Amino acid sequence: KGGAPLLDLRGIRTGYGRIEALHGLDVAIHPGETVALVGANGAGKSTLLRVISGLQPLTAGTVTFDGDNLNRRKAADRVHRGIVQVPEGRQVFAGLSVEDNLMLGAFSRRRDKGLADDLEAMYQRFPILKEKRRLHAGNLSGGQQQMLAMGRALMAKPRLLLLDEPSMGLAPLIIEEIFGIITELKREGITIFVVEQNASEALAIADRGYVLETGDIVATGSGETLLNDESVKAAYLGG
Ligand code: ATP
Repeated sequence: KGGAPLLDLRGIRTGYGRIEALHGLDVAIHPGETVALVGANGAGKSTLLRVISGLQPLTAGTVTFDGDNLNRRKAADRVHRGIVQVPEGRQVFAGLSVEDNLMLGAFSRRRDKGLADDLEAMYQRFPILKEKRRLHAGNLSGGQQQMLAMGRALMAKPRLLLLDEPSMGLAPLIIEEIFGIITELKREGITIFVVEQNASEALAIADRGYVLETGDIVATGSGETLLNDESVKAAYLGG
């Protein structure tokens, strides 16, 4: 794809103490793309997301977003720039109402009149959240909490939406529903980086994918190419 990447990661190295977790990897995400990062437990997927969010210091490499070097930019600044994450395990505020969780998603925005409209748009997208808007988020099912976490992130008007294991702990039918929602967001042109252990589902909806293995990118290509790659199949797609 031509044009400058929205997010450009170059030579990323980082680790924990003396243990290096990412060994100098390159990842680029272009505007409007849906990109999947797949890999086994402990490959370094969460570490890479922490690098993008600004929660993980680098030992080498650069994080460039929309042409700006973010290396010295703190996590909060990155959220203001539009890098918004749906965390692993949803992490909704269980004791707050569904509606308050959604409104919290907009905290990083300047005060504007569009909030009420955006809330209504979110309820159109997720009717179940409208139905349950007065309930504590802790009362929602896992799938509903994932929708809430996604709605909360969308309220921030992300330029890059980071999804950390959106299918984790959900039943197969609910996983289908969540990937359906991601496909919908993709159609709307939102730039998405989705990190998944559920490689087949993620690659099936992605424009491109990267396979991460113990801190190195070992394969990259279109979602379809990776889905049909023999070594990827053997390692990540149950043969
Ligand atoms: P998972 O799906 O289990 O979250 P992952 O692909 O996200 O796996 P990471 O959590 O990024 O992998 O871990 C990459 C490597 O860094 C692993 O070897 C892990 O043991 C190590 N690691 C992760 N967090 C820490 C930490 N806080 N302290 C020490 N080592 C860590």
